[in-house]
Amino acid sequence: MQTTVKTLEGSRQNLFIGGDFVQPESGVYIPSYDPTNGAAWYQLADANEADVDKAVKAARAALVNPAWRRMTQTDRGKLVRRLAELVTEHADELAMIETRDNGKLLKEMLAQMRAMPDAYTYFAGMADKLQGDTIPVNKLDMINFNMREPLGVIAMITPWNSPLMLLTGTLAPCLAIGNTVVIKPSEHASASTLALAELIAKAGFPAGVVNVVTGNGATAGEALTRHKDIAKVVFTGSTQTGRRIAGNAAANLVPCQMELGGKSPHVVFGDVKIERAVNGVVAGVFAAAGQTCVAGSRCFVETNIYDEFMDALVERTRRIKVGHPLDDDTDVGPLALSAQLEKVEGYVASGVRDGAKVAIGGCRPQSEDLARGWYYEPTILSDAQNDMGFMRDEIFGPVVGVMPFSSEEEMITLANDTNYGLASGIWTQDIDRAMRFARNIDAGTVWVNTYRSAAYMSSNGGFKESGYGRRGGFDVMREFSRSKNVVIDY
Ligand code: NAD
Repeated sequence: MQTTVKTLEGSRQNLFIGGDFVQPESGVYIPSYDPTNGAAWYQLADANEADVDKAVKAARAALVNPAWRRMTQTDRGKLVRRLAELVTEHADELAMIETRDNGKLLKEMLAQMRAMPDAYTYFAGMADKLQGDTIPVNKLDMINFNMREPLGVIAMITPWNSPLMLLTGTLAPCLAIGNTVVIKPSEHASASTLALAELIAKAGFPAGVVNVVTGNGATAGEALTRHKDIAKVVFTGSTQTGRRIAGNAAANLVPCQMELGGKSPHVVFGDVKIERAVNGVVAGVFAAAGQTCVAGSRCFVETNIYDEFMDALVERTRRIKVGHPLDDDTDVGPLALSAQLEKVEGYVASGVRDGAKVAIGGCRPQSEDLARGWYYEPTILSDAQNDMGFMRDEIFGPVVGVMPFSSEEEMITLANDTNYGLASGIWTQDIDRAMRFARNIDAGTVWVNTYRSAAYMSSNGGFKESGYGRRGGFDVMREFSRSKNVVIDY
């Protein structure tokens, strides 16, 4: 892999179209910033409509290229497996690139990249297992069957918080099925996707099967989601952008898969070991400086342990080390964007104006070393009310609002009182109660006595304004293939 943190530094990155890295027709390059010091560290191409059209044409041409169209399922699976091997070989460099681009902890990125090849291998194994059905009809001498085939060109738009990991859950199955792809990574973290493109070429995928167009949402993203030759749009990002993209795609009757934002409830009952639940709540919301879609940012605690729990939560949070993402002893790194930092500050200030109290945090770190980066202290707001702005909107920062509840009924009403429905967590020793929660909560994922443990083997996704469509497990193979009915009279 030519792309490394070293080669990226000060470089201009081009688009990956039809198997080659090419200069953008737009002629425009935009900076990508290092969140630890706010400095631009490389330039990425800002693709325009003509660039995007070129990429979609390359993907369409690859669909009918015999090298791809007539490749057996088994061979497609082998190619995806080969990609898994290459990702394994380059996992550490890919992790370094993402850390530099989005400021997430290197140790977390290393864990993600080293786990990622298993997901590619898992979906590679499905390439030859996607079957159709033979259906009995009310007539002799007739065969009626449904066969499954690829959808076509899939547009994939990804966010900056975990670009490659979030891409894997749809890219790997799409390739296993035989689709072709145009990826538009976030303008704030495109480098790892461009590096992956290199590995895709090296693995031996025919030219045009995977294309990467970088650039702003308003330029490259809009052009891609408005394109008429897309078969499906896969979007991971904010609910606001998802709404706009769904509108663009709907104009062409193109279906979407939407993985959007969240405001997930994290519920703690009085029968738990407090230390364990505190660790779960802390990891659930402060991981990645709160920049995870599933962040448990609304914490509901049973009244009989509220004071004790709050004391322990504040104490545990005091021990969190905010620092540089490359340092091994750092627990929380910077936010990825300066706008994100301002957003967090705005929500905390409005929460305090509305009557919430800062139990800890509520400011940027005092350390001189961190002054130039986009850092914010892990923050707990007590005396929260579910109608306060910071309890309703996704902040995407290290902020959790805590409030007490006194009955199961009250808790489920509070937990469900949100426009979102991505994830949820409950800490209790009572399995009946946990099951009632799982049944009554409006969230696509329910964690019991754990949080953020995701598996690509199970299908998952959001409810309500957190999106629609499912990733993971075998369901994803149906989401990205289509059924064709064939009737033979003989
Ligand atoms: P974002 O919505 O700002 O951007 C996401 C992507 O959309 C970027 O590539 C961006 O360039 C593109 N985009 C922006 N405007 C566009 C437009 N008009 N047309 C087409 N594309 C456009 O999100 P973000 O700030 O990059 O990521 C954070 C958000 O992503 C949070 O809301 C988070 O919850 C969500 N997220 C969801 C999941 C999930 O699985 N549900 C996972 C990770 C992140």
